[in-house]
Amino acid sequence: MTRLPDTTKSWEDICDRCGECCFEKKFDAKGTILTTMVPCRFLDIHTRDCRIYHQRLQAEEDCIKLTPDNLCYLDWLPDSCAYRKVLP
Ligand code: SF4
Repeated sequence: MTRLPDTTKSWEDICDRCGECCFEKKFDAKGTILTTMVPCRFLDIHTRDCRIYHQRLQAEEDCIKLTPDNLCYLDWLPDSCAYRKVLP
């Protein structure tokens, strides 16, 4: 099990609500992941908050709960993601 550094805030407080993870991704011909301008239908594009945060995993089958243990497998998360800075 991956542990957070002792100075880290609670897991959910790490997110800076940039919303970058909530835009559709595509692969180009070389397999590079590209972030599109198409937001998740539940993302408030002004506040960058999920409008159904506590029901998101049931409502959107593509939504993935970030955890310390799955973060390293989620190569589509942007390098700017606050979680990547805590657990690279
Ligand atoms: S990309 Fe990372 S920091 Fe930004 S909203 Fe998504 S989880 Fe939060």
